This record gives sequence, structure tokens and C-alpha cells, in this order.
Amino acid sequence: MKYCPHCKKAFDPSKTNGVCPTCHLQAPETIDQDTRTSLVQALHRKANAYGDKRDGAMSFVVLGAIFLIIGVIFFVLSFKPVSVDDNTRVIRPDSLEFVVSMLGICGGGLAFLYGCVRAIIFTRKVRVLHHDIDYINMTLRLDPGPTPLLVSDVYRKTSLRLKNYLKIKKVEREAKKAGRKASKES
Ligand SMILES: [Zn+2]
Repeated sequence: MKYCPHCKKAFDPSKTNGVCPTCHLQAPETIDQDTRTSLVQALHRKANAYGDKRDGAMSFVVLGAIFLIIGVIFFVLSFKPVSVDDNTRVIRPDSLEFVVSMLGICGGGLAFLYGCVRAIIFTRKVRVLHHDIDYINMTLRLDPGPTPLLVSDVYRKTSLRLKNYLKIKKVEREAKKAGRKASKES
């Protein structure tokens, strides 16, 4: 992936020999500070726009979940006794509760899935842009590598923290042991 400093768009340089397909100009290997500032500003604006879309998707997730829960509650309510004498509960597809439950489950489920997909897509887009901005700022180059996935990042950080925690515990244990030995000898 490479960024064009003229139109600020990303493109695949291996397909076009380093030429931006939008403005047909050769993208340089390195850039100066002025080019960096304008490019990074444009990428920040884009990241903010994607962040807004991700937040909008999150509200679909929350609303969808609420309607799903309401749907499930009404589904339970649509089970009614067979008759006054027989208390066996059967589902009543002709009841208002059943109609409401189907609306809630279908509508809520769709909104929930739609929100989840969009939230994942735009979270990824924001992450990629922030990763690329850091790369451009640090190297003054236009060709950031692939952004690691959120899950692999979380995994790496968690395992590092766990490793450090175990190391600290080990040191503490050894210090305690040494302290006991010292008190025994004196
Ligand atoms: Zn361009």
C-alpha cells in the first residue's frame, strides 16, 4: 500500500509501477515536512470521519440488542394456556405478543448484525489510518506495511503483561525465600 501525496489516496503501487491511478503522478519514496503535514492532516480528517461512522454503527448494535431482548420477552409471552381448564402452554402465532416478538427479533437482529459488521469494518479502517499516520510521521515515507489485526495486537499485549507479571512474582518468591534463609541463619 502506498499513499499519493497529491490526492492523499492509498493505492497498490505494484499494479501501477508506483504511479497514482487517480492523478497519474509518480509517488516519491520519501517526502519533506510540508508534504507530510498536509498528508497527515488529510488522513486524520478521514480517520475522524470513519470514527463517526463506527460510532453510528455502535448505536445500531445497542438499539438492535434492545429490540432483540424485547422480541425474546414477547416470544416467551406469546406462549399461552390451551384453555381455562388445561394449563399446558402452547405458542399462539395469532397473538399480538407473537407479532411483536417476530418484529423485535427480526428487526433487532438485522440492526444488530448490520451494526456489528459496520462497526468492525470502520474500527479496522480507523486502525489502519492511525497505523499509517504513525509510520509516515516516523519515517517520512509513503509505503506503510500491513496493519496488525486488533486481536493479534491484544494477544501480544496480554501475553507480554502476563509474562512480566510472572517474572515479578518469581522475583518476589525468590526474595522471600532469601529473606527466610537469612532470618534462619541469624
Ligand atoms: Zn494521486
